[in-house]
Amino acid sequence: MSFLKSFLSESGQVMLLLGNEAIARGALESGIGFAATYPGTPSSEVGEVLMKVAPDTGIYFQYSLNEKIAYEMAYGASLAGKRSFVFMKHVGLNVAADPFVTSLYTGIGAGMVVMTADDPSMFSSQNEQDNRRYGDLAHAPIIEPSSPQEAKDFMKISYELSEKYSIPVMFRTTTRVSHMRAPVHFGNIVRPTVADMKVKQERDRFSSVPSNARRLKPQLTHKMSMISSDNEFGILNSVEMNEGSSFGIITSGVSYNYVKDALADSGVQANILKLGLTNPIPVEITEKFMRQNKRILVVEELDPYLETKIRAFNDNLGHITEITGKLDKILPWSLEFSETAVMNSILKMAGINSTVNEIPAKGSPPEFCPGCPHRSSFFSIKRALKMAGRSDVVLASDIGCYSLSYYEPYDMADIILDMGASISVGAGISIASGKKTVAFIGDSTFFHSGIPAIINARRSGADMLVFILDNSTTAMTGQEPTPEFPLSIGTENFSGTRIESILEGAGINYSTVDAFDEGKIIRETVGSIKQTGLKVIIVRGPCALLPHKKESYYEVSPEECSGCMNCIDNFHCPAISRDGKVARIDPYECDGCGACAEVYVCPVKAIHEVKL
Ligand code: SF4
Ligand code: SF4
Repeated sequence: MSFLKSFLSESGQVMLLLGNEAIARGALESGIGFAATYPGTPSSEVGEVLMKVAPDTGIYFQYSLNEKIAYEMAYGASLAGKRSFVFMKHVGLNVAADPFVTSLYTGIGAGMVVMTADDPSMFSSQNEQDNRRYGDLAHAPIIEPSSPQEAKDFMKISYELSEKYSIPVMFRTTTRVSHMRAPVHFGNIVRPTVADMKVKQERDRFSSVPSNARRLKPQLTHKMSMISSDNEFGILNSVEMNEGSSFGIITSGVSYNYVKDALADSGVQANILKLGLTNPIPVEITEKFMRQNKRILVVEELDPYLETKIRAFNDNLGHITEITGKLDKILPWSLEFSETAVMNSILKMAGINSTVNEIPAKGSPPEFCPGCPHRSSFFSIKRALKMAGRSDVVLASDIGCYSLSYYEPYDMADIILDMGASISVGAGISIASGKKTVAFIGDSTFFHSGIPAIINARRSGADMLVFILDNSTTAMTGQEPTPEFPLSIGTENFSGTRIESILEGAGINYSTVDAFDEGKIIRETVGSIKQTGLKVIIVRGPCALLPHKKESYYEVSPEECSGCMNCIDNFHCPAISRDGKVARIDPYECDGCGACAEVYVCPVKAIHEVKL
């Protein structure tokens, strides 16, 4: 049976699912009618599944231009009476923070859940912010699952809580929960329904002008106080008591799994309170657990978020127990936990004078795929800047596959900050220093937040050369469509928004080159870097991972190869390796792009095409 057919099975089925896939199933079992996202790892698989099942389940799904738009669309859908779901990676909530915070004041229509997938250890992110801080800041209920089964089941409870209190609920995962695979027991899929739209009747609630916001804020804090003592949602939390032990561990999310493994392997006896609702803290169960344990260790990844709340609660209760955790430096604040780190904290708390050594992880930097258009783009631009005597120019890059150009042998990024920042930061440096800067931004990132930045750069008079690296997809997160292509199922007739049209409308000088035409890129770059003012070069070539038929591969003629190793040392395609004194291409790895056969890579033209 195909994945999708199994995924849409009825109640009673059990299927091995990723946490993210279980979340998508939970959304369907909750009767969502609308889902929107901007793709970002570690949340991407939720969208991959929902996009595919949308036609069969009656839900509307879209990849929005950015997370703020996705949030506002989902909020609108909720006001229109449909249960809505918006999801994003952790830094996406920085972009959506504006509507998120105020939507807590206004409340919602039908249930609304916002999933944020945090990325401890930054496997695919620029920082590892703990988004529970956002939930706290916005006064949003936070629900944290610790397994795929909970991910599915907690989604349903999230919608119930959301509708009972008319409040958006934050559903927070981390990479390991999102990407953990485990059996999930299915309930029934619920077809979307539409509740009454009350926007017109309740405009005093939905219009957050100061006079209304002053009234809504106390209502919000009152809601949170009610939720903290609402036992209807006690199912989110669980206690495991160990007869005779007075050592307690309070934990949540993926940390619960580390705690269970560490206790099993160390033999230490402890009681566990696992919180599924981490904002507000459920007062009754937490107080009872604190009174049952003389010492409590709080185990949570990233910030001491729970620990700070538990300590404050302990103080309010008159210091009924001893709390230990990250604030005592017993556990690290940074990076993903390991069982070893958790085990050592538990051994220490148990008074066992022994530590387990961590085995260091080995790894090598990620690299562009064989056939990636960015390789020949960066190789050629680097060469052109050198030819023009401008190797010293500041290079501002952005978020996406092309950020791999930071690594050797390209070394083509001096700054990488956040989505769209290449253009604004590059413009800021240009204006402040009076020097030309170069910026790199991908097509999806340009649509996400590069458009206001480039309009602002033009208005600022920045002296900047901007490369828009258009590989026709949002590549890094799984080849989701950009606005150059239809937005969602049901909009196939959409003709696409061209980057060229936007630049023309904004009055920006631009040219377009083929990402695999190294000579053209070099000539265009050398010419443009000498001009003053703002210039854009669109470098266009499809992502190697987009579906395509391989029509040829390339091979090195050992007789012609001079052994200069330029194709390995400076071009660095993973399909090419050293074979004694000459280079060799693996015909299976080679994607047939032909970029290495150009004279700029192989000066003696020893690389030849073999047609399939
Ligand atoms: S660039 Fe050409 S000549 Fe140099 S090692 Fe590679 S295949 Fe051989
Ligand atoms: S043609 Fe050359 S650059 Fe392109 S994938 Fe094959 S080996 Fe790599």
